[in-house]
Amino acid sequence: MITRETLGEIPLHTSLLHPSILDLPTGRWAVYPGGNWYIISGDVTVGDVESRWNRWQPSESAGLKVKDGKTWQVLGSTGSSYQVSVSSNRWSCTCAGFGFRRKCTHIDRIKLEISK
Ligand SMILES: [Zn+2]
Repeated sequence: MITRETLGEIPLHTSLLHPSILDLPTGRWAVYPGGNWYIISGDVTVGDVESRWNRWQPSESAGLKVKDGKTWQVLGSTGSSYQVSVSSNRWSCTCAGFGFRRKCTHIDRIKLEISK
């Protein structure tokens, strides 16, 4: 079981997707960062565990080597073409979804591509 002292035993999470979290009876919970489930002690918060993957999320620069001002053409599911760009570590896309939510699948797709 993972406690605050043994957080380091949880492998660094490098996927774009949030790891699965499972509530267990008896006040414990479990996280699945890939590979194995890790049982977490009840006094460890999700925030504590997130330190194992937060800094790896590409949205905050992470380890991605992207040239500032770079743009990509992305073909959307409806056949439309969108332009994804990154500038000063801020991502943007020309699709309508990005306009509403400030995130979209096109950006996710590019981040996934370049994180490989
Ligand atoms: Zn988009």
